[in-house]
Amino acid sequence: MILSSLFEFAVNRHPNEIAIIEKSKKYTYKEFDQLTDKLAHNLQKIGIRKGNRIVTLTKNRMEMVAMYWAAQKLGAIFTPINFRLSSEEVKYCVENAEATLVLYEKVSEDALMEAVDKKNKPILISIHDDKKADKNFDFLITNGKEEFIKPEINDDDVCLMLYTSGTTGKPKGVPRTNKNEYSASTAHIIQNEYTSKERTLGIMPLYHTMGMRSLLAMTFLNGTLVMLPEFEPKTVLETMEKEKISCVYLVPTIIHDVLNHHDFKNYNLTSLKKVGYAGAAMTKKLTEEVYEKLNPEIFVNHYGSTEVYTYSICNYLNEKPGCAGRAGFHQYIRVVTPDPEGHSTPQDIVPEGVPGEIIVNTESIESFQGYWKRPEATKKALREGWYFTGDMGELDKEGDLYVVGRVDDMIISGGENIHPLEIEDILTKHSEVLEAVVVGVEDERWGEKVIAYVVVKSKNLSADILDDFCKNEPGLSNFKRPREYIFVDEIPKSPVGKILRNKLKKQEGQAILKKGVS
Ligand code: ATP
Repeated sequence: MILSSLFEFAVNRHPNEIAIIEKSKKYTYKEFDQLTDKLAHNLQKIGIRKGNRIVTLTKNRMEMVAMYWAAQKLGAIFTPINFRLSSEEVKYCVENAEATLVLYEKVSEDALMEAVDKKNKPILISIHDDKKADKNFDFLITNGKEEFIKPEINDDDVCLMLYTSGTTGKPKGVPRTNKNEYSASTAHIIQNEYTSKERTLGIMPLYHTMGMRSLLAMTFLNGTLVMLPEFEPKTVLETMEKEKISCVYLVPTIIHDVLNHHDFKNYNLTSLKKVGYAGAAMTKKLTEEVYEKLNPEIFVNHYGSTEVYTYSICNYLNEKPGCAGRAGFHQYIRVVTPDPEGHSTPQDIVPEGVPGEIIVNTESIESFQGYWKRPEATKKALREGWYFTGDMGELDKEGDLYVVGRVDDMIISGGENIHPLEIEDILTKHSEVLEAVVVGVEDERWGEKVIAYVVVKSKNLSADILDDFCKNEPGLSNFKRPREYIFVDEIPKSPVGKILRNKLKKQEGQAILKKGVS
């Protein structure tokens, strides 16, 4: 199924429904179709052809969505990049993608200008007024005809390239075909039990698979995407109330900040029917908070990635907090012996209850075929028709999956495997702990030792108090207890709320209040 056809269906079905709301401006499906026809016309005029990579370096805004649909109409590959990346990272992505065109705005201008190769530069289109640009976006949507030559587009043609979050290294380009995107988005609709004309927040970046899912699910259902370029808890709450938002798909960090807004209970959120989360595990404490403040039945955990959308799904979190549930629509899951070097095979299945690496079968329709120009990474990730997620998980007796961390984050201390999440969940149970992240650092005696980075609510908390707290935790074996506590002001995170453990490790010694529990 071709995405541009799905957009066309939505336009024909309900031309006057609102597709996009941005501040006080509303665009109907018909208006957005006309606008993107004109954009496609002009892009074709300046040389954009099927298969070209159209890079965007912008916040979530109408222009970005318009560029997405114009790219789909022309069979070009929409390649959104995180606008917050450094010029070095932007350079890497623009060069890796071999961009034909880049859409940018003020916020990304400096990084882009430093990154582009002056001799061999892509066509630059700015949203703001900028002399360095080849064209201005407004000009392209206001001039010319609503006509263009429609290329032949097939299911297996790549329509999107998303870069992974770069949590564990350089972002990797993930080419996505029309079929991949269609099936991921229909699975999203089914797994959330969305119905027609939903209204959602366009807050998850459109350069991330979560943002894309929201945009496409709304389009398939003639729903409305209410664009929010920046995250700010008060604006999120105000918008949810004012726009009668019916569903949201968020990362745990955003959920945490919204629920903890001092005025949370004064907002009327009765229109909200579904809250999906993905991107990272949710601590037990946050799950409990959600149950207290929202109806637990509207809550769904989506565990997945840029490469495969959702591997598994859980909509019974009130019975099994933290659970990642069963294989998602179109998926097969296995848990195998973890091997950071990448030598384990799909046959190395571990017994129930034993943690191992989560792998998913790639025969599914959402299948991932490899990274863009990264053969080594592809070879490690794809083995015998299975995608090795790099995540650790275990299945319980009923066959429900629990994600316990990443293979690379697993701490091996004195020959024992330790999963950070288990300890983080315990530490965050302490009423004075706001956040806790556990890492392993090299240790002569133990190979690695467990270190906890902690953000505290008050300065009264000490390493000794936390150590006693852990000692009193019946489920926590002695060897798993952190050997050091480092108190920090904040935990470094990516724009989609992922903990940047490598960056955190470099912070050692900066904000230590007390160290040295033995
Ligand atoms: P990179 O591959 O560049 O290091 P990344 O893996 O963070 O970045 P994404 O595709 O954005 O790139 O994230 C996928 C990862 O996020 C998963 O492999 C998993 O580690 C984590 N994740 C996603 N959803 C969940 C969830 N519901 N529970 C636990 N972890 C999750």
